[in-house]
Amino acid sequence: MSDVLNSPIQFVRGVGPKLAKLLSKKGIATIEDALYFLPRDYEDRRRLTPLGSLKPGSFAVVFGKVSRVKPQRMGRKHRLEVVLSDPSGEITLFWFHAYPALLEEFQLENSYVVAGEVRPSTRGLQIAHPEFEKVTEMRNGKPVISLNFGRVVPIYSETEGLHQKTLRKVMREAIHTSLPHLQESLPEKLLTDLELPSLRQSFTKVHFPDELPNSEEPNEAIKRIVFEEFFVLELGLGLIKQKHQREKAPILKDPENTLEALLKNLPFSLTDDQKEALGVTQKDLARGFSMCRLIQGDVGAGKTVVTLGAAAIASGSGYQTAFMAPTEVLAQQHYRTAKSLLDSAQVPVYLLTHSNEGKKEALEAIQNQENCVVIGTHALFQESVKFKKLGLVIVDEQHRFGVEQRGLLLKKSASGKPHLLMTTATPIPRTLALTLYGDLDLSIIRQKPKGRKPIRTRILRDKDRPRLYQQISEVVKKGQQVYVIYPLVEESEKLELKSATEMHRKLSQEVFPDLKVGLVHGRMKSEDKETILSRFKEKEFNILISTTVIEVGIDVPNATLMIIEHPERLGLSQLHQLRGRVGRGTEESECILLADAYVTERLRIMTKTEDGFVIAEEDLRIRGPGEFLGTRQSGLPGFRVGNLLRDADLLQRAKTEADKLLKEDPCLKKQEHAIIRQLVESRWKQKIERLRGG
Ligand code: ADP
Ligand code: MG
Repeated sequence: MSDVLNSPIQFVRGVGPKLAKLLSKKGIATIEDALYFLPRDYEDRRRLTPLGSLKPGSFAVVFGKVSRVKPQRMGRKHRLEVVLSDPSGEITLFWFHAYPALLEEFQLENSYVVAGEVRPSTRGLQIAHPEFEKVTEMRNGKPVISLNFGRVVPIYSETEGLHQKTLRKVMREAIHTSLPHLQESLPEKLLTDLELPSLRQSFTKVHFPDELPNSEEPNEAIKRIVFEEFFVLELGLGLIKQKHQREKAPILKDPENTLEALLKNLPFSLTDDQKEALGVTQKDLARGFSMCRLIQGDVGAGKTVVTLGAAAIASGSGYQTAFMAPTEVLAQQHYRTAKSLLDSAQVPVYLLTHSNEGKKEALEAIQNQENCVVIGTHALFQESVKFKKLGLVIVDEQHRFGVEQRGLLLKKSASGKPHLLMTTATPIPRTLALTLYGDLDLSIIRQKPKGRKPIRTRILRDKDRPRLYQQISEVVKKGQQVYVIYPLVEESEKLELKSATEMHRKLSQEVFPDLKVGLVHGRMKSEDKETILSRFKEKEFNILISTTVIEVGIDVPNATLMIIEHPERLGLSQLHQLRGRVGRGTEESECILLADAYVTERLRIMTKTEDGFVIAEEDLRIRGPGEFLGTRQSGLPGFRVGNLLRDADLLQRAKTEADKLLKEDPCLKKQEHAIIRQLVESRWKQKIERLRGG
């Protein structure tokens, strides 16, 4: 791509240091930034309305001669009234606060074109603070005018001191300067197939269209710009994926049939989705090239057994597995599960956290025992831990780990690159998966294991509390346990914490003096937190009051009732995650959303479905991509123009086309792909690599 696009915006005629600084506030540092700074709206200023036919309340463009000028001093302020006339009538232009240049601007008999909202006033119609331009030339009885009138005019998002007229001038100059250097990035055939305009046409049309664009739907020019953004991203992701796929890794063929031994001893049979996920994983592991797979599935979908299946394959092939869990409690829980399932398949399993008993044995096994599985926390990637023959890294709940941490574990092996298998229990809509995980192989476990009891979800109000407390007593009487969730909102964390603590006091002392009520919140030290959670698991508490810290992974099958206070403060996906803490046993479970007086429509979906993917779609629709991801995944590549919701079809198309192109020209080496390749490299690659720690 030519250097012109990457030149600082000062390169544009008429942009000095001061203006450049203002523009940078709008994110415009280079000429390219300017091109992508699209108008937020347009105004049709093609038609001039005679002054005699102006209607109050309408937007109008008018042309007339100055017939009166009335400056007024109000203290230190200057007001200004200017009357324009044409043969049919007149209008008053009005400024509350006139700066000196303005006071000198209007001279009797000069002609102006003016645009603005027409309003009624005691002295006839007026336009306050209009956009205006002096007319010095007439052609065929019409004023010869510029960028700001007589055409469809772009309206940009402004900032203090940076006005429409300036922005338009900058934009026109930026386009003028860069267009000759703007090379078409899409292969010709693709452009024809897509029936979209060229890049040059697109930028011109978007900034200075001939016709008023339809505000409902993005026009061809915008589609073209969006498509390119998506296409470049998908190519970048595709290239990284290829890079993984070409990287050598151990061939794990499981000659010992350890997987079979594991499956034979399972107390249940796998669901079809589990079988499918395990099947492709098995194939990946046998290929001799690095696997990079993400298993996406709702809480309770049964992802663990699939990952343990992969661990069994590694073990049966004489390789070690490192299984990383986000918390100590989860590591212990997985350790118990793994032990009970893998023991019978003769796979040695160890636990390595910062503090556990048996840590020494684990460290020894890591150094010496070639077919062991080590389950642990961050402790797994301490400096001193050196795996003898690491073949597989499993990252449970991957979104809880930083990229660097994942990367560190991958570098732990003394014998080449291990395979990587990750899980996530935050279902995300397909469109987002295409961007966030476009470089990974995805397995989706959508079906729940058979025999799962549905979780009944109801919305109750504050006035229902007595009834609710009654219900809690009954649940506890049956020997089951209850969660009460208090969501914390960051800015008012202290306050909420107070209410969680207060709730704890009230429930333990006033409402249920003879029950045991525990409290856990994010401000506790993590050891204390974990202690409380394990004690709850050991049934030492009947009720656990918690902030949202229990969101991930904790498995207490005996908890059958969850009450969520202030559910309206949480995103739907988060509510869904929380709800997944119950319904893990054989008993009927219930989730109660204790909403404020009004019930927002969006909460109702929680009562209607338990499908995390459906809920995620809805959540994304309501909150938009930024917020949807904000709480759980930073680093989503931001799009300048593209909108994942509005442009989902284009994204899908971009993905398909990117795959096609990479198949035909895997490294984008062909001459005709040189420009797009440069774009991919300059725009996304680094960013994505950082995101993935790859
Ligand atoms: P998650 O996907 O949230 O990690 P887990 O792997 O912890 O879910 O599984 C949740 C529970 O479901 C576990 O107790 C597990 O033993 C059980 N489970 C997993 N697969 C099946 C199955 N196919 N049939 C019955 N129960 C299953
Ligand atoms: Mg899990």
